[in-house]
Amino acid sequence: MREISSPSLASRTTLRLGGTAIAELILDGPEDFTALPERLQTLGGTPLVLGAGSNILAQDGQLPLVLVRPNITTGPEIVGRAGDRILVRAGAAVPLPRLLRFCAQHGLTGLEGLAGIPGSVGGAVAMNAGSFGVQTCEKIEFIDVFTQGCINRITVAGLQFGYRTLSLSGKNQDFIVVEATFGLTESTRDGITNLMRHNFFEKKSRQPVTAWSAGCVFKNPAGGFTAGKLLDMAGFRGKKLGGMAFSEVHANFLINEGRGEAEAALTLLREARDAVLSRFGIGLEPEVRIVPCLSL
Ligand SMILES: Cc1cc2nc3c(=O)[nH]c(=O)nc-3n(C[C@H](O)[C@H](O)[C@H](O)COP(=O)(O)OP(=O)(O)OC[C@H]3O[C@@H](n4cnc5c(N)ncnc54)[C@H](O)[C@@H]3O)c2cc1C
Repeated sequence: MREISSPSLASRTTLRLGGTAIAELILDGPEDFTALPERLQTLGGTPLVLGAGSNILAQDGQLPLVLVRPNITTGPEIVGRAGDRILVRAGAAVPLPRLLRFCAQHGLTGLEGLAGIPGSVGGAVAMNAGSFGVQTCEKIEFIDVFTQGCINRITVAGLQFGYRTLSLSGKNQDFIVVEATFGLTESTRDGITNLMRHNFFEKKSRQPVTAWSAGCVFKNPAGGFTAGKLLDMAGFRGKKLGGMAFSEVHANFLINEGRGEAEAALTLLREARDAVLSRFGIGLEPEVRIVPCLSL
C-alpha cells in the first residue's frame, strides 16, 4: 500500500476546494485491501473513499480524514455472456469516459446516457450516477466490494439503489467498490457513438462542463421543478460570494472561480437552500458529498 501524508483535497477534487487530510492510502491490489483496516486504525480519522473527486465539496483546513483510493485499473474488458448480455468488467479507478469509449468501440449499448460524466467507475457505481434516463446501477451484473475485511462479489439482486444512492441490500455497512461488471447488449458502433456524441453536446450546451465544479450541487426534488429551476427562480443564478458562484449557465452548478474557499461555498448553499424553502416550501438536499460529513 502506498501512503502520502497531508494530501490536498483541493488538488484531488474537480471543485478544487478543501484543506488537507491526514493521509492518503493508495490500494493497488487485494493485499492492500487486506491490510487496510489495520492501517486505518493506526492512523485514526474517518476514512473517505475517493474516486475522481468530481462529486466532493471538501471543507477548509486540516481535516480528520484518511483518503482511501482503490487504484484498480483492470479493463475495461469483455469477460463473458449472460443470455443476450455481454459482460464488461472495469476496475474502480477506470475513468467513466474510458469505459464509454470501450463500449462504443465494441458496439455495446446501455451506458450512452453517462457521456460527459467525469467520474471513475467506482464513483459512478457508488453514486449511482445518471443522466439522460440512464442510471449506472441498472446496468450492473455484479460488483466486487471490499466490506468487513474481505472482497465479496454481489449480484445486482443484492444491491439497493435509488437517486444517487447505493447500498448493499439489508445491510447498513460501508463498502469500497473494487470492480464492476456491467451487462450490455450489442448494437451498431455508429448508433452508439452518435448517441454518446449527442448526449455529450447536449450536456455541454446546458452545463458549464469546463468550469471547476462538482456537477449539480442539489438533488432534484420530487414533483415538477428541477433544483436548477428553483434556484433560478429564487434569484441564485450567477450569485457570487468569496470566489464561488452559482453558474450563469446552469443555476444548480456551483463554480469555483479560482480563489474560492469551502466556507463561502457552504454559505452560498445554505442561503440557496433557505431561500428555496421559504419561497417555495421545498427542502433541497445536497447531491454533492460534503466532507467531512456536515448537514447544511
Ligand atoms: C461537469 C460535471 C458534470 C457532472 N454530471 C453528472 C451527471 O450528469 N450525473 C451524475 O450523476 N453526476 C454528475 N456529476 C457528478 C460526478 O461526476 C458523479 O457523481 C460521479 O459518479 C462521481 O464519481 P467520482 O469517481 O468522481 O467519485 P468521487 O467524487 O470521488 O466520490 C463521490 C462519492 O462516491 C464515493 N466513492 C467513490 N469511489 C468509490 C468506490 N470505489 N467505492 C465506494 N465509494 C466510492 C465517495 O466516497 C463519495 O461519497 C458531474 C460532475 C461534474 C464535475
